[in-house]
Amino acid sequence: MKVRLLGSSVHDTARRQYVTSYLINGVVGIDAGSTGFHGTPQEQEAVEHVFLTHSHIDHTASLPIFVENAWTPTEGCPTIYGSPQTLDAVQKHIFNDVIWPDFVALSRNMPPFLRLHPIDPEMPLEAAGLRFTPILVHHVVPTFGYVVSDGHSSVIFGADSGPTHRIWEVAHQTPNLRAVFLEACFPNSLSGLAKASLHLTTDMFAREVAKIPPGVRIVAIHIKVRYREQVIRELKALGLPNLEIGECEKDYEF
Ligand SMILES: [Zn+2]
Ligand SMILES: [Zn+2]
Repeated sequence: MKVRLLGSSVHDTARRQYVTSYLINGVVGIDAGSTGFHGTPQEQEAVEHVFLTHSHIDHTASLPIFVENAWTPTEGCPTIYGSPQTLDAVQKHIFNDVIWPDFVALSRNMPPFLRLHPIDPEMPLEAAGLRFTPILVHHVVPTFGYVVSDGHSSVIFGADSGPTHRIWEVAHQTPNLRAVFLEACFPNSLSGLAKASLHLTTDMFAREVAKIPPGVRIVAIHIKVRYREQVIRELKALGLPNLEIGECEKDYEF
């Protein structure tokens, strides 16, 4: 399985991660923070499935642009998966004929722009030869982390979440778990903000890592850009043996 953490900044050699989107094997997206600002329209058209973790804009910002770029006058179109609450939010607040045309309604009368596919927690489904299992995590809006398996290896995308439990239980039952992409939003000095917004500080990150099976690669992502250097210093001081700092535009092989 090839996972790319997409870049999200313009003319930035440091490739700071302002928003969140991943591409798996070039054909499945997890979140769409910057998917619509990535590569050519043809590369975007190749992304036939997008799994949303939640409705927050750093995870959905480019979704309307992506849907437009991927459109061709055929019956093919991307399928957007998410919880009913996430898909409702996307319809109500993005494709609402104010922020962006109602591509959901337009798709009923012309070659479609997108299909919305609600999914339920812990009900696995297959897409592009991969198996996706959504697991509820603990954030300020309904949020899914995803366990993704290709039959040889499995990877967990932890999504935005404060301290949580169920997804780590599932991690212990997941065969061939190779990696967890885990948020490390805030430095320890901003623990009040982390608790209020249901994100993790570095110390909270370490407590989540202790719940994950040993030996699994832990990739720290979603580090708030303004505090990036501080968070990375604190993460390195934890001395965790399997820890990597996530890098935008890097291909991860699992
Ligand atoms: Zn969020
Ligand atoms: Zn976020």
